[in-house]
Amino acid sequence: MYIESADAAYYRVPLPAPVSDATHGAMTDFELVVCRLRDDKGLEGLGYTYTVGRGGTAVHAMVRDDLAPALLGSDCSDIEAVWEAMQHRLHWVGRGGAASFAIAAVDVALWDLAARRAEQPLWRFLGGKDPRVDVYAGGIDLDLPLEELLEQARQTLDAGFRAIKMKVGRERLAEDVERIRAMRELLGEGFPLMVDANMAWELDEAIRRSQAFAEFDLVWLEEPLDPGDFEGHAELVCEDGPAIATGENLHSVEEFSRLLGFGAADYPQPDLATMGGVTAWRQVQRMAYDYKRPVTTHGVHDLHVHLLAASPNASYLEWHGFGLERFLLDGPLTIEDGQAVAPERPGHGVRLDWAKLEALGA
Ligand SMILES: [Mg+2]
Repeated sequence: MYIESADAAYYRVPLPAPVSDATHGAMTDFELVVCRLRDDKGLEGLGYTYTVGRGGTAVHAMVRDDLAPALLGSDCSDIEAVWEAMQHRLHWVGRGGAASFAIAAVDVALWDLAARRAEQPLWRFLGGKDPRVDVYAGGIDLDLPLEELLEQARQTLDAGFRAIKMKVGRERLAEDVERIRAMRELLGEGFPLMVDANMAWELDEAIRRSQAFAEFDLVWLEEPLDPGDFEGHAELVCEDGPAIATGENLHSVEEFSRLLGFGAADYPQPDLATMGGVTAWRQVQRMAYDYKRPVTTHGVHDLHVHLLAASPNASYLEWHGFGLERFLLDGPLTIEDGQAVAPERPGHGVRLDWAKLEALGA
């Protein structure tokens, strides 16, 4: 698998509608960084990562100037070895952070290319037997008035979802409780409902809220604390409240190793696009398996669906609300009976509408 050309591109993409959570405030767009590799057979691999609106030009520069040129003319069949070499190449400014986003874009392109060469969808190339995975819709809805929150949930149900996540972290605990109660009443007993605090609280407040949420039979409470507070998360795991999910703000395998070592997450949530790609995500998945934990995901559901379909300890796939499907030539991922179905197309099967992206400008 010799790489003959390697290109990087950067796009600023408007969100379908402004969204908000407890930490990031109102968001109106995201950055998309793309890596395209072409091999000696003329096949192409596509990789991409994203930001929440800042830092993307640095990620783009790392792919364009540091990572992609180093692949040219070299045999990249051993993707794990290439991944190690990329880590080494960027270690002085890396070991996580923006470097992990850049490595992810290249690593995804390599896995896509390898699966395309094998003429297999990525999920089967990785050893999966069944393309279907449980999926939930991740609402970014903290500022929505209650009635709009419920209306969004009704639309989500109409779209075929059978699990939903909502934001928490309103100023007063009573508001969070009122909104969760209304959602629970709408969705019914036993319907999988998660809540996401986006790092809103200190430990004392997190314990208080988690105890108040205990009556609602939540699948998990996500990111209650600063992502590096592993001790605090471990304490919450031991409380009687909901199970704890976290990981979207961890950007290296090492951080997940510490998270799991601390017993700080019931549901680790690696995002392959922000923590080193398919290679890194699978390292965390195997680690979680060893700790007898399920693995779930954050963001880029068109990619993660393949990885969960090939994981024995798969939990839910997050259907992320950034709306990248507007730029996909093959349309959104299929949802059937509350499950996402990974495509049969070779590789990850994502084909971007370049003309539509170019029309956005940078
Ligand atoms: Mg989250």
